[in-house]
Amino acid sequence: MNYSITQKIGGLSTILLSFLLVVILYSVFKLDQIDMEMREVTEIDLPLTELMNEIELLQLEQHLWMEKIREKNSGLILEEKDKTDFMGRFNAYSRNLGKYFDSIVHIIQTGLSSGRIRLKFEKHRSVIHSVMQLHEQRLKFENQVKETPFNTLGKNSREWLNLEDLADRLDEQVGGLLLDVEHLTQGIAEYAEKHEREFMFINAALGVSALFIGVYLTICIIQTLRRRIGQIQGEIQSLQHSITSRKTPDRKKQKKSREKDELADLEKALEEVTEKLSKEFLNRDEAEQKLMELATRDKLTGAWNRHKWDEQLQVELNLAARGGRLGMLLLDVDHFKAVNDRYGHDVGDKVLRELVGQMMKRLRAGDQVFRLGGEEFAVLLRHIREEGAVSLADAIRSKIEHFTQKGLPRFTVSVGVSLYRDGDDAETLLKRADQALYRAKENGRNQVGFESLP
Ligand code: GH3
Ligand code: MG
Ligand code: MG
Repeated sequence: MNYSITQKIGGLSTILLSFLLVVILYSVFKLDQIDMEMREVTEIDLPLTELMNEIELLQLEQHLWMEKIREKNSGLILEEKDKTDFMGRFNAYSRNLGKYFDSIVHIIQTGLSSGRIRLKFEKHRSVIHSVMQLHEQRLKFENQVKETPFNTLGKNSREWLNLEDLADRLDEQVGGLLLDVEHLTQGIAEYAEKHEREFMFINAALGVSALFIGVYLTICIIQTLRRRIGQIQGEIQSLQHSITSRKTPDRKKQKKSREKDELADLEKALEEVTEKLSKEFLNRDEAEQKLMELATRDKLTGAWNRHKWDEQLQVELNLAARGGRLGMLLLDVDHFKAVNDRYGHDVGDKVLRELVGQMMKRLRAGDQVFRLGGEEFAVLLRHIREEGAVSLADAIRSKIEHFTQKGLPRFTVSVGVSLYRDGDDAETLLKRADQALYRAKENGRNQVGFESLP
């Protein structure tokens, strides 16, 4: 898929940020929930538990006191002082119990109406209900205490046993309520703790996932960048190589990138530079070739020129000195001045061109024709013996003699032949060919002359 690098980074960052946003929203929601639960625990359950402890203490006190009375009360009738004390304590117990019950109902009711109580709604209601019932029970007990005449109280008296029984039942019911509230508060605390643990676990998992996603996305981005930069580096290197080695850049090797990212512009610019450079290199090669031609070729006939002649003759002489064979032909158009005079200079030029063309047809591959000046030419023949050189020279002479072309006069050439001998240099070899040509001219032209031994 062709996305720009900015798009890729933007897309991946959006994914990551969305994920983080989900994590944050989840955390906020959960923290709020846990906060509410914790507040419920601290504002409802802890005060309730404290009240329950107070009630438990109160009951314990009541138990101890009653036991004490029982023990003390071995006689049939209680003493007057004990009776007053007994009634006072019973009343105090009932009042305190009533106060605590009121507090329990108040805490739960404000909790329910303010919405602070969110967990175990129904159980809280049933606690209120139980407390209301206990209130009734307590009032009943209080009335019973009030109605019981002091003088009838005594050990094993019906009134005493009645009171004891009522107190026991109230005690039992209070015990039941304590147990209910304990279960409720414990359950809520456990519930809140469980939520807290869950939150910690899920948040840790989400955090680790976010980290992995982040790392993965970062690796993706880095890899994309490295790959793209690598591609461009490769292109720059091959361009640098082309420049330093002065070779035309291989445009086929340069893969056209199909990516459409920000680096594509850079790649395109690079492609354009490469294309320009390869064109310049091609032009340069052509120009060099042309310059070389201009410097070494004769413009009129296409034969090698005098400059090339000097250079090439030395090369061939060196080869011959190492054991090769070398023959030289020196050609001169017969009465060329007369051709020019009679037919004009242009025709003379054409004659020179045709002469080279015809010679080429007869020569072997590797034989080289040079225009030494005017209507004088030389041919260098590699790997050739005397007979071969002479017969080739004669074949050329004969071909020219019989050559006809519309608009051109017939013409002939004289040829001088010399062959490389040990110790020869350019001057000696050329001199012998020149002498042979001179003899051919002297002998009446349209002839081949062979070098005379010195
Ligand atoms: P010979 O048989 O003794 O060689 O007689 P010739 O007339 O060929 O000899 P000469 O050296 O006197 O004449 C050479 C002529 O070649 C003189 C010159 O005008 C002519 N010439 C030299 N270069 C060119 C050229 O490039 N084009 C033309 N058309 N003529 C040229
Ligand atoms: Mg001539
Ligand atoms: Mg001449």
